[in-house]
Amino acid sequence: MQSPDKFSHYRGRFAPSPTGPLHAGSLVAALASWLDARAHRGQWLVRIEDVDSPRTVPGADRVILSQLAACGLHADAPPVWQSTRTALYRAALDKLVAGALAYPCGCSRKDIENAIAADVPRPRHAELRYPGTCRTGLHGKAARAWRLRTEGAAIHWQDRAAGPQAQDVQDAVGDFVLLRADGCFAYQLAVVVDDADQGISHVVRGADLLDNTARQIRLQQSLQLRTPHYLHTALVLGANGEKLSKQNGAQAIDTTEPLRALNQAAATLGLPAQSGSVEHALSAWTAAWASTGVRPERQTRAT
Ligand code: GLU
Repeated sequence: MQSPDKFSHYRGRFAPSPTGPLHAGSLVAALASWLDARAHRGQWLVRIEDVDSPRTVPGADRVILSQLAACGLHADAPPVWQSTRTALYRAALDKLVAGALAYPCGCSRKDIENAIAADVPRPRHAELRYPGTCRTGLHGKAARAWRLRTEGAAIHWQDRAAGPQAQDVQDAVGDFVLLRADGCFAYQLAVVVDDADQGISHVVRGADLLDNTARQIRLQQSLQLRTPHYLHTALVLGANGEKLSKQNGAQAIDTTEPLRALNQAAATLGLPAQSGSVEHALSAWTAAWASTGVRPERQTRAT
């Protein structure tokens, strides 16, 4: 049997949420994950994370796939869509419930806000810290969501760029949601199940997801799944100094000039500008990535 922390080969992925086209920020994650896979002579997969159906924009998946192709970022297998994989998420939840590691929750957002008496602006996939109201039962309320029972010590892990990390999940977010009140499986459950099911050995993504990683490792431990290696890349910032997103004016990348878009993403990753063809640029960056072990720490502003 394979040892639990060893992968026999490199497999990476890019996992965009189809809430809009690729922009300068999401291209950085796509390029970094592609380069890391190529530099390790590994495989690179694309997974469309449309589990959050209310936020999914019809057609955005096709646009993203054509933008990746225009940038020369070709996957080694056909893409998968999370919306076709609900049975896997259901099976994982059932396993957690059977092990008494998940419990139903009847709290509305308002209940939680009242319980913690504060609402604060939240970064991507962050949650209000759940005070544990339904841990001991529903107290007469109807079940709305399912949560993971987050017990145990703090999670310690190593990010390939940011170094040693530690988070006490119970302290930071509490028992987090696995199945939402609207019937959608939560990002945290879907991403963990998919990374394991697809044999992902290396996760490369934006630094705004750094603080989600402890939750994902906690869930991997609860489901007895292997933990991949993680690398969180620098973010592209919008005009307001926050992470570039549709909300602060991110433009779709211009695929009539793929090299221009790629050069901008490469600069964020600390890679030198290239001219010539997209193929030449990608192979030059792959060689640079492989030889220097890039530390993607720079932050750039979108132009
Ligand atoms: N689909 C997630 C997002 O765009 C990213 C998932 C991941 O790379 O882990 O927020």
